[in-house]
Amino acid sequence: AKKNLSDNHEYYAKSIESQTTWRLDMIRQLRSDFINRKLQLWYQPQVDLVSEKVVGMEGLLRWPDGEGGYISPAVFIPLAEYSGLIVDIGQWVLEESCRKLKELKEAGYDNLRVAVNISIPQFRDRHFVEKVKNALIASDCDPSLLELEITESVVMDEPQIVIDALTTLKEYGVGIAIDDFGTGFSSMSYLQKLPLDRLKVDRSFVKDIQPGKSAVLAETIVTLGNKLGLLTIAEGVEKREQASYMIKLGCVEAQGYLYAKPMPFEALMSYLHDHSTT
Ligand code: C2E
Ligand code: CA
Ligand code: CA
Ligand code: CA
Repeated sequence: AKKNLSDNHEYYAKSIESQTTWRLDMIRQLRSDFINRKLQLWYQPQVDLVSEKVVGMEGLLRWPDGEGGYISPAVFIPLAEYSGLIVDIGQWVLEESCRKLKELKEAGYDNLRVAVNISIPQFRDRHFVEKVKNALIASDCDPSLLELEITESVVMDEPQIVIDALTTLKEYGVGIAIDDFGTGFSSMSYLQKLPLDRLKVDRSFVKDIQPGKSAVLAETIVTLGNKLGLLTIAEGVEKREQASYMIKLGCVEAQGYLYAKPMPFEALMSYLHDHSTT
């Protein structure tokens, strides 16, 4: 039934009323699948650009459509945000990531970090900071191995609330990354007020890198990140020449299909085994 819902999206999109019906059906299904533990967290390796050793991973949600495929996060994350479901789903993502950090440590990978995406409604939850700390305590994880990824739109929603929450978490040891950097409309002044560790150069700028051409925006963003004392990581690296260009710009890390696609945890474990980080 879910597959139908997504297939018929265009048909449903004909009227506002049927769009609303489609949305409500999707949200109802998402809630039920979440409660029934059908959501999965997959992991995409992040590597050091020069050595290509794995340094961490990003957790990415996957929603099985019941027929062997997956509904894109680009479709269901906005619905989860709109409905408020993202608060509980995001909490599960945090807890699951901390459990995996523990499993990684037990398997001997005690210095790999896990990054998770945080949405606006999670920051509006007054207990957010406490919940993050509790997830770390419950699984006995080193806070510095957990990284929170926030986009510019998260910051712009409630700048002071977000800055305060992140400052507290940073003092606790948690890492903070600004995601999709350059695609939003944040005020540059917030960049310095945020306790950032890492700047993620959006895939669209990495895509601009073509043989024999200069990629002005990618270069400007890496330079800005470096000047602010942040580590920079290139997103969506698919080609060798993109990786070597980013190295020349002074970018430190990368994530992208050139290295690996997002994969279930068990697959990640064999990937780590095959790409030994020691
Ligand atoms: P994002 O945070 O920017 O995540 C990176 C996206 O780029 C992922 O898409 C990943 O699969 C994709 N990607 C990575 N490398 C490459 C590459 O080399 N080429 C191409 N074409 N794509 C690449 P995905 O998994 O579909 O997730 C889409 C978005 O959904 C994420 O974008 C993030 O905004 C959101 N999302 C996913 N999981 C969560 C979550 O747990 N919580 C929240 N709030 N949002 C999430
Ligand atoms: Ca992200
Ligand atoms: Ca991103
Ligand atoms: Ca994105």
